[in-house]
Amino acid sequence: MIPQTQRYQPSLEDVSALAKRRGFVFQSSEIYGGAGGVWDYGPLGTELKRNVKQAWWHEIVETRDDVVPFDAAILMNPQTWVASGHAATFHDKMVDCRVCKHRFRADHLPSLEKCPDCGSKGSLTEPRDFNLMLKTFLGPAEDTASQAWLRPETAQGIFVNFKNVAQAARRKPPFGIAQIGKAFRNEITPGNFTFRTREFEQAELEFFIPPDGTDDQWYRRWVEVRMAWYRRYLVEDRVRFRELAKEELAHYAKGLTDVEYHFPWGWGELESIANRGTYDLTAHIKESGKDLSFFDEANKAKYVPIVVEASAGVDRTALALLIDAYDKQRYVDQTGKEAERVVLRFHRQIAPVKVAVFALARNKPELVERARSIEHDLRRVMRTQYDEGNIGQLYRRQDEVGTPWCVTIDYQTLDDGSVTLRDRDSMEQTRLAADQVKAMLLERLAG
Ligand code: ATP
Repeated sequence: MIPQTQRYQPSLEDVSALAKRRGFVFQSSEIYGGAGGVWDYGPLGTELKRNVKQAWWHEIVETRDDVVPFDAAILMNPQTWVASGHAATFHDKMVDCRVCKHRFRADHLPSLEKCPDCGSKGSLTEPRDFNLMLKTFLGPAEDTASQAWLRPETAQGIFVNFKNVAQAARRKPPFGIAQIGKAFRNEITPGNFTFRTREFEQAELEFFIPPDGTDDQWYRRWVEVRMAWYRRYLVEDRVRFRELAKEELAHYAKGLTDVEYHFPWGWGELESIANRGTYDLTAHIKESGKDLSFFDEANKAKYVPIVVEASAGVDRTALALLIDAYDKQRYVDQTGKEAERVVLRFHRQIAPVKVAVFALARNKPELVERARSIEHDLRRVMRTQYDEGNIGQLYRRQDEVGTPWCVTIDYQTLDDGSVTLRDRDSMEQTRLAADQVKAMLLERLAG
């Protein structure tokens, strides 16, 4: 667990400026003025997001024998969304200001009396339902028969395939199906950078449980597993787990815990873990007329499994990790002068680049060649970056993207084969034999 710290609290502008400057996140199709609520990930952002997904996948799929992986298509038969309730009820209430023309989500407004942007009194329209699903068409005819939706969550792809997967993977409840994939919501007011977007990725687990009274235990167990995961990567006092009171739950839900992060604008949801009862499978059984119940050979009995769901947002988690890692530190440099650096204190598993390898001088072919060969060797086992030139600048550049280690090759390397290993957080530099670097870094990465 990362202890409570006095770590610098960046503004959203600090983080979005760094994200753009260093190639974590760009506005989608920026040269055309962008697309509202849609973002692209640059080279470092792509690595960051991949590491978030890998950390989730490792915990939920790779290290367990009771969860199997899945990858459903984004497009589904539209009946899916009728059964799940999304076609009829996946609405947010929307209000418009007649004066400044801005649009708001009614539940985000403190009152409907005046516009929060232009301040006009009585200018807001009555709240109207707005379906958040994005429409598209399958095939060449744009009529209602071919209309489809871009999925607003990945979960339904798992539910409709429950029986296929249980049979093919020869599983019986309790077992889970996990997937990571894109979801789309036509949010009324996207914003707060990548927190609320119209295209995003979800990491979802649906865990199927027999009706033997263990569902609450499983729900609590999954909350624990997810808590431990978030606590490994985020500062302790910036993440909280909020269990909703029974009155706050949907009628079918038996328990729900939201994982929230303290963003610069306040607490925001990263994940929701819920005991959903038999609601989802029952809805699909009704709508499709297909029997999705499970036949328990041992007891010769059929049942509809209870589902515990853990539904996380990959982009929101990546944003939380970026904000969480952002630190500003004053220190005394090697010449004795006071200096300041921005350093992303990513957990080593999350850091986009694990090690940067530098040649101390640009114009010395022996140094460059040696550094390149060390970097090449490391590249086979971890993400690396090669650079050369002014060492102070090189360190600062790597600090700013959260690279945990730097290896510097200098003239002494040519004499005695030793290199300098520099640690991002302590800024400590140690001299060691070049041929020990790989084993040492691999050990630290695994630890
Ligand atoms: P919110 O209340 O913030 O709109 P939600 O409760 O509707 O979120 P869920 O349907 O529970 O969200 O979705 C599960 C997870 O998917 C969320 O915890 C979040 O991390 C992610 N998510 C949902 N909507 C978005 C979005 N528009 N942009 C980015 N991530 C999202």
